Amino acid sequence: MKNTGNEIFTSLEALIKVPKQKVTLVTHENPDGDAIGSAIGLGEVLKNFGHEVKIIVPNSYPEFLHWFSTDIEIVVYDRKKNRGKAILQETQILFCLDFNEAKRTARMEKKVLEFSKLKVLIDHHPYPTDFCDLMISETEYSSTAELIFDVIQLINLGEFINHDAAEALFAGIMTDTGSFAHNISRPNTFQVVAKLMEWGIDTEKIHAAVYHNFSAHRMKLLGHCLGEKMEVFPEYRSAVIWLSQKELEKFEFQPGDTEGFVNYPLSINNIVFSAFFVEKKDHVKVSFRSKGNFECNAFSRDHFSGGGHKNAAGGETKLSLEAAVEKFTQLLGDYKHLLLETTI
Ligand code: 5GP
Ligand code: MN
Repeated sequence: MKNTGNEIFTSLEALIKVPKQKVTLVTHENPDGDAIGSAIGLGEVLKNFGHEVKIIVPNSYPEFLHWFSTDIEIVVYDRKKNRGKAILQETQILFCLDFNEAKRTARMEKKVLEFSKLKVLIDHHPYPTDFCDLMISETEYSSTAELIFDVIQLINLGEFINHDAAEALFAGIMTDTGSFAHNISRPNTFQVVAKLMEWGIDTEKIHAAVYHNFSAHRMKLLGHCLGEKMEVFPEYRSAVIWLSQKELEKFEFQPGDTEGFVNYPLSINNIVFSAFFVEKKDHVKVSFRSKGNFECNAFSRDHFSGGGHKNAAGGETKLSLEAAVEKFTQLLGDYKHLLLETTI
């Protein structure tokens, strides 16, 4: 751990080992595999230790993340606001998982900021804001799930990891690394995976549950994107895909269906920067992916009110879909130098 002093783990261990507390885990909006896997992984351990554990996610999460085995209640805040508020009211320790600023919890932001008992951050995104009492922010980790595995050891709760927790943490690492293709800078990622396998998890089953579980509509939407909606700019080593609400309706869009689409252009020879624009009700959501030293989080922060990791970021804009894509393509000229210099 580069950023976190040992005293934090000593404090956290002392605070968490007070028996039978009400502990709540909250993730970022549009929870991904790392967010859900981290929450269930840590949640199972805390439950097995003897705490009363709840998970709250700001909004719903895709069907391909519904296979996790757990008996922890998962409250979707924008569907059951009163239940979420009641849980927060009683919560004694709040864990903020896989996000670096309260804003990332969207409609829960105020509740997270106002929460006045112990708040603990465990996250791997750069530039965290100081909104928690204990901050475990480690950007060299592939995923929050990998970090949680190490934190569990450091606070001496390793014996409470069960099969459900091991599966969930593995799924978090697998999804945030694109099945171990990126975000891995240290042997620790594979060392953690190796240890998780000691719980007898079926990694092939977990992979299939996440990646071989698409609807035919989703596959056709992907075909449409790659065939009709992808524009490649070889002179800028970049590509963009965009989708309107109308197209989403045509392909009977379900939440999560466009997950991963932004990665496809990066498999084109010499492309180092990819953007995916999707029209939402009152804004346009953007995803960025890059290779090597091109910092798509800085690009997102500077032009699309967003952030994230160096090679995987997101943002949003109030511009129309067409204007947003136009803004992006115009900006590529300003970044030509950086894009051409990018080393993979
Ligand atoms: P995705 O493209 O999968 O939505 O997000 C990629 C990465 O960027 C994730 O690590 C996510 O946390 C971050 N991210 C996505 N959208 C936003 C945003 O609107 N603001 C910030 N700060 N980060 C985002
Ligand atoms: Mn993550």
